Amino acid sequence: MPGVRICPGCGIIAPLARTSCNVCSAPFGPQPTVAAGRAGAAVLACIHAADFTCKACGIRSPLATVDAHGEAECMGCGLRQAFDVVQWTDALGFAHGVGDLSGPSLDPIGARSRHAKIGVELTSSTKTQNAMIMDGQGTRTHSLRTSVSPGHPVCKTCHVPLDVWLEGETTKTRCARCNDAASYGLPPNARGAYPALVGVLSNEQRTDRAVARLGRTQAGVESIVCPQCGAGLGAGGGSELAKCTYCGLAVRIPGTLARQQRRGAPPKMDPFWVLLDGPSPARQRLARGKSEDADDDDDDEEQRVLALVPPVHGAPPAWGHAPMPPKASGATKLAIVFAILGLFLLGGTAAGIAVWMNMEEDEPPPPAAPPRARGRK
Ligand SMILES: [Zn+2]
Ligand SMILES: [Zn+2]
Ligand SMILES: [Zn+2]
Ligand SMILES: [Zn+2]
Repeated sequence: MPGVRICPGCGIIAPLARTSCNVCSAPFGPQPTVAAGRAGAAVLACIHAADFTCKACGIRSPLATVDAHGEAECMGCGLRQAFDVVQWTDALGFAHGVGDLSGPSLDPIGARSRHAKIGVELTSSTKTQNAMIMDGQGTRTHSLRTSVSPGHPVCKTCHVPLDVWLEGETTKTRCARCNDAASYGLPPNARGAYPALVGVLSNEQRTDRAVARLGRTQAGVESIVCPQCGAGLGAGGGSELAKCTYCGLAVRIPGTLARQQRRGAPPKMDPFWVLLDGPSPARQRLARGKSEDADDDDDDEEQRVLALVPPVHGAPPAWGHAPMPPKASGATKLAIVFAILGLFLLGGTAAGIAVWMNMEEDEPPPPAAPPRARGRK
């Protein structure tokens, strides 16, 4: 296993053509940091931005973890709103492909991927979901945007790659230099959204920290307090790990509590890592000679690239449909009745699904020009 060159500041991949990180700005330094980018057979991917559009206030609200219980809370206005879990299915499939198929050391399948330039010139890829769903449950939008990079988490103090391993459904990390350790549980329902998800390394998933609660300080002010001694804790932005200044207990402040104590712009969430097991769906599609993105089957450039590559031997046929069984006329009639009933129940609302998706890789560094700000924000 050759390993990947990573940024010592944030742990995401350090492209060979760059000398500093375009996400955290840390210089890569003369001695590159190299890490496995995997834990056992599972690949690590960093989700360094995740947000959705609030249906009430319209801001893009950040998300601190893979939350698959069907709701999300806006960090701007506090509204809890429906959040279709299938958005995480798409986002994690995308993250899996980025982790599994990016450079710089590529096998023949990875070399055909749209992510092949990550690790060489590029750092990350962003997918923005933009779909309006209209069905019997009403109208919802899918707006989850995720920016993903391969890499390996590093110790925030020592900047060396962490040891990462799985113990059942718990992911554990440890810094070999300072011995700082952490345990993370899988979010409930997360595997239902994406079965290959085996770990989520986000502050919200820490299982080895006491959780701060809302209480009253001695002065009678409602505030986030230490669960051990009741002293008030300063609320950081978003989900934060804090230490009680009175009793020294290390605590975690849940993102929702932190939001209630805060005014102004939504907090910047810490990046989190996901552990994804096995070959990505994109790799499986490429291995069958198809475009790696199921939503993107008529992408011209992709088709052109695929045409140059001979099909992989032993791959299953691209289409394996069994012949359609003869239609039972009774079942058909029943289906028509239900369809008419459905239209009646919808009360004239058009039923349909509109899907539009957008993926963009970050820009390569300017060729041999003097460094200057590129003004992308
Ligand atoms: Zn970085
Ligand atoms: Zn809002
Ligand atoms: Zn350390
Ligand atoms: Zn305390």
